[in-house]
Amino acid sequence: MKAIALISGGLDSILAAKVIQGQGVEVIPLHFKIPFCHKVKDSSRQSVLVKENLGLDLIKVDLEQEFLDVLKNPRYGFGSNMNPCIDCKILMLSKAKGLMQELGADFVVTGEVLGQRPMSQHKQALFLIPRRAGLEGLVVRPLCARVLAETIPEIKGWVRRDGLLNFNGRRRNPQVDLAKELQIKDYAWPSGGCLLTDPGFSRRLKELIEHKELNAREVGLLKFGRHFRLSPNTKLVVGRDEEEDNQLADLAQAGDYVFMPPETAGSTALGRGNFTQSLIKLSCSIIARYCDKPAGANVKISYRTAQDKEEKILEVFPLDDVELEKIRI
Ligand code: SF4
Repeated sequence: MKAIALISGGLDSILAAKVIQGQGVEVIPLHFKIPFCHKVKDSSRQSVLVKENLGLDLIKVDLEQEFLDVLKNPRYGFGSNMNPCIDCKILMLSKAKGLMQELGADFVVTGEVLGQRPMSQHKQALFLIPRRAGLEGLVVRPLCARVLAETIPEIKGWVRRDGLLNFNGRRRNPQVDLAKELQIKDYAWPSGGCLLTDPGFSRRLKELIEHKELNAREVGLLKFGRHFRLSPNTKLVVGRDEEEDNQLADLAQAGDYVFMPPETAGSTALGRGNFTQSLIKLSCSIIARYCDKPAGANVKISYRTAQDKEEKILEVFPLDDVELEKIRI
């Protein structure tokens, strides 16, 4: 028998796949890429985790655009932040279903645990999600299968129910103990680290949707820096450390502005949208606020468009914190 195992990158999905693999089922590890994992390096780490612990190559499938479409109007709504978990899982299982024939898989395995997450892992949701994805009875959750109804693979004897687990609730100790027992190496996170559960990220995302700017390029920018709305169609993103400064400079595309202090230690910023001269000046004042400078002093800020090598310089007074907060997203 063959099973597609959905891999989020967190511990639970690896454990679930390992338990099923231990029953002699051929596991196909599959990861759906959505634009909301923490960092690019997390994505390559998932492949390493799977290789080390399952001895298999992780298949990655891009779900970016479909996920963004779901995010605009999720049928089952959002969780406590901008996380449309039920719709997200229905989307992933539907996609997995579409790949079953091509991959020769008989059923699908997930790392869900009953009661672990409030929105999508209560009994009703665990029943609804496979049904809406057209996979009723064909989704095995090895970590909590014994507290759920029997699935087709258990009834038909493709997997042994007594070899599955009965985890239930929010405690993580059972997973940590199982990871030790199964000698799972080098796992770092209890979950896949979805940015949609982060309040600050969700606030910025909501603002993006309200401004009808939801696309992969803008979502990529939301992962970095402090964000300011300068006008309905103009934003400034200011780096918070050297790594973000470099990433913002790399993300700048034709038409974007890049700002930085040429003489003072401070942040790099990326401006996107319609920049008038007064918005350029406002941007320079914001960046000046984050420069190391004597109190009351003007600061020189250089700026250029991403495609232009020629820099211009403005000398400005830093924006005060009250004004700054009014435009911070
Ligand atoms: S936390 Fe994020 S990735 Fe996980 S189910 Fe919810 S929306 Fe999907």
